Amino acid sequence: MQHISVIGAGTMGNGIAHVFAQHGFQVNLIDVSPAALEKALATISKNLDRQVAKGSLTEADKAATLGRITTVTELDKGVVSADLVVEAATENIDLKLSIFGNIDAVAPAKAILASNTSSISITRIAAATTRPDKVIGMHFMNPVPVMKLVEVIRGYATSDEVTAQIMDLSRQLNKVPVEVNDYPGFVANRILMPMINEAIYTLYEGVSGVEEIDTVMKLGMAHPMGPLQLADFIGLDVCLAILRVLQDGFGNPKYAPCPLLVNMVTAGKLGAKKGEGFYTYTAGSKDLIVAPQFKK
Ligand code: NAD
Repeated sequence: MQHISVIGAGTMGNGIAHVFAQHGFQVNLIDVSPAALEKALATISKNLDRQVAKGSLTEADKAATLGRITTVTELDKGVVSADLVVEAATENIDLKLSIFGNIDAVAPAKAILASNTSSISITRIAAATTRPDKVIGMHFMNPVPVMKLVEVIRGYATSDEVTAQIMDLSRQLNKVPVEVNDYPGFVANRILMPMINEAIYTLYEGVSGVEEIDTVMKLGMAHPMGPLQLADFIGLDVCLAILRVLQDGFGNPKYAPCPLLVNMVTAGKLGAKKGEGFYTYTAGSKDLIVAPQFKK
């Protein structure tokens, strides 16, 4: 496997392109937005600088890594010689079904088609192609160059051979792959999102405050980040969407999103990316300040 096409150059796509290129693969990074591609290259370059400063890469490694990444705006051109396509476009089911239908028609017949989706069924995505045995979930964690885990999700029809190839490839990227089956939320979000939702309920019911809840989980459970801060980092809209997938997929009311989360998303308080969630965020500052709404 040598040629990797990454679809979507946002938060995850740039990290995925970075990691593949750093490990010697030729990467075609595809996005409909030229601005997103430009921003992705700048982010990759900045993140490589950080690795050079830490001594884990040389300047020559950085140049070689960047030299292995080509950017493309047309999907067809970008996947025509791919051995593996990793889709990391916006989390929207209709968009993903259409992308997979399109790439199935153009990518080589032997190519594996992977999705980095956080919550959409791999089996459903695979059904939009003529090669469901070669469709698989390759769920990287954010930030991709730093986080070791790849959740490898087998759709209903994914073959043993394709699963083994993707497990092996993840190890070549110096990641730790974990194989899971395709059920709502897979493993990571099935466990994480109910915990975040419960933290929000704990706040909503006035059991304790934002900082207190996060401190209990950080100091009491050795979590590097409290669940409310983590929710802000992931994006409250993303958390809500994943909870809805769990609620719909299992039909179990225990996954119903907390009304406070629904209200915050409706009000546009989506977390770090919008400057406010449970905390407020100012560019250039690492201070964590509780949002005015939750100040005592
Ligand atoms: P993002 O919004 O940062 O980036 C998405 C990119 O996709 C944008 O640059 C957009 O222009 C591009 N795009 C949209 N339609 C396209 C098309 N038809 N062809 C090519 N590019 C297209 O999103 P993200 O946070 O990087 O998430 C991408 C995927 O990764 C989603 O499926 C998400 O669920 C998953 N994911 C996200 C995280 C996270 O923490 N952000 C973690 C794990 C998995």
